Amino acid sequence: MTAAPHFPIRDGILHAENLPLTDLADQYGSPLYVYSRAALQEAWRRYDSAVAGRNALICYGVKANSNLAVLHEFQQLGAGFDIVSGGELARVLAAGAAPGRIVFSGVGKQGWEIRKALAAGIKCFNVESAAELERLADMAQEMGVRAPVSLRVNPDVDARTHPYISTGLKENKFGIDIQQAPALYRQAQQMSGLEIVGVDCHIGSQITEISPYLDALDKLLALIDALAADGIQLRHLDLGGGLGIRYTDETPPHPAELLNPVFAALQARGLDHLQIILEPGRSLVGNAGVLLTRVEYLKYSDVRNFAIVDAAMNDLMRPALYQAWHDVVPVQPRTGTRTDTYDIVGPICESGDWLAKDRELPLEQGDLLAILSAGAYGFSMSSQYNTRPRAAEVLVDGSQHWLIRPRETVQELYAHERIPPRT
Ligand SMILES: *Cc1c(COP(=O)(O)O)cnc(C)c1O
Repeated sequence: MTAAPHFPIRDGILHAENLPLTDLADQYGSPLYVYSRAALQEAWRRYDSAVAGRNALICYGVKANSNLAVLHEFQQLGAGFDIVSGGELARVLAAGAAPGRIVFSGVGKQGWEIRKALAAGIKCFNVESAAELERLADMAQEMGVRAPVSLRVNPDVDARTHPYISTGLKENKFGIDIQQAPALYRQAQQMSGLEIVGVDCHIGSQITEISPYLDALDKLLALIDALAADGIQLRHLDLGGGLGIRYTDETPPHPAELLNPVFAALQARGLDHLQIILEPGRSLVGNAGVLLTRVEYLKYSDVRNFAIVDAAMNDLMRPALYQAWHDVVPVQPRTGTRTDTYDIVGPICESGDWLAKDRELPLEQGDLLAILSAGAYGFSMSSQYNTRPRAAEVLVDGSQHWLIRPRETVQELYAHERIPPRT
């Protein structure tokens, strides 16, 4: 059985650090997200040690898990933040982030979001189109400030990951075609509302090899040379996020395996004045969380058996969205119960509502299961579909724990809805 190191089995019960998950489920009910603070800290230290003594900034990719407690933890550890919306800007500021450590990515930044970020004084806008560049320059000028900008270029490399989470190919909506970047940088240089500070790319997610990054780096370095020839000097190079985690048998590289060749390439080109920025999301939080769910019903048929659980696609959307694979383990493994092959499915009225398929498990109704590696793109992608309150979230630290988001109540789900008068 695979359990992440911060989720050990002791006395026959799966724990989060020192706490039995059965106790947390009894106290808070299920479905329940449980995060390990030690796992967050360890994931952070892997990056932090890889950039020790370097001019580098690790900006946590907020959308992977945006609970304020998680953001505050990374803020305390020294992280910057990569945001993709005005909502995320408000969250990271509420968690104590320094505006000078925030970069703002995303293809569709709206006027109000740009205004808020300019007012806050963020480190950099990662601009994804010529049209956005113009809007940003106009708004900055109106506000009497200069917007720090980086162009997010699309280096046209294949990250060899799931098509839905690959972003660095020409056909993707993301970034600016690297061929068009020099001309756009020259234009940006003429716009008084802008200050060019860097270049950026983000090629995908759950990437398990280094070579796509190094391919992208080569293209970015060639661009940096071309810009220098035009008199455009950059201060930073942002390689985005995307390092993968182990869900099953993947062996993703350590951040140092990515960063060492990056620093070496910069040195070789005399570019070590450039600050390196990374935007890891999944690899900082993915294996720090589990989703607890209870078996409501077991249902058998000739062709398939189902374990119908109380978590669903609204709680953890990744399987439905990307056919993602999550390990599912009993929290208190049984002996003497018949093992069958089950699809683990939720109660939602959609055939796409499944969490895992073809799992051999000894199950009985009422059993508690843990869906592993659920710390990234779990709660943050969750919804209230079928009028299901979103799950509670708990952070564990050793033998202590905190409820960092209570379970929503049903009344909260429609509290803002209005019935118009009959006419
Ligand atoms: C989603 C995203 C990230 C984080 O990606 P991970 O795969 O979770 O590391 C970083 N940068 C940008 C621009 C993103 O959209």
